[in-house]
Amino acid sequence: MAIKVSVKTVRGPLAAKVKEVSGQDPNVCFQCGLCAGSCPMTGEMEIFTRKVMHLLQLGLADVVIAQKMAYLCASCHTCQVRCPRGIDIPAVVEALRLLTLRHGENYLAPESIPAERVREMPQAAMVAGLRKFTA
Ligand code: SF4
Ligand code: SF4
Repeated sequence: MAIKVSVKTVRGPLAAKVKEVSGQDPNVCFQCGLCAGSCPMTGEMEIFTRKVMHLLQLGLADVVIAQKMAYLCASCHTCQVRCPRGIDIPAVVEALRLLTLRHGENYLAPESIPAERVREMPQAAMVAGLRKFTA
């Protein structure tokens, strides 16, 4: 995937918004990869946490938001515990998810869930899922 990086993208408003919403600074990441190596969901993600931090450093939050990574994060906080730079990575992931949902883009259409599946689902899991996946 070819991406264009410029001063304009690095200082872009979307990356600044991710920083503001998460309260974290991706620029302190030194790309050690411990977070990605510890994440139980890397097998499912198209891009890992280390690359997420790198893209945010380059101001390419839109590239990250276009991926499903933020919805696959299990919020287990393993990456945060392992990060030698003390970055609250799940907070960054949460900010990416929130910014997507604020644009009114649902990851899941509730009406697309079959009725028989709904009957089998634990209510608490359904509520948590809809909060996470819908605007
Ligand atoms: S909080 Fe999310 S990104 Fe971090 S290790 Fe857990 S699943 Fe992976
Ligand atoms: S563990 Fe922390 S410093 Fe290392 S790549 Fe991940 S976010 Fe960056």
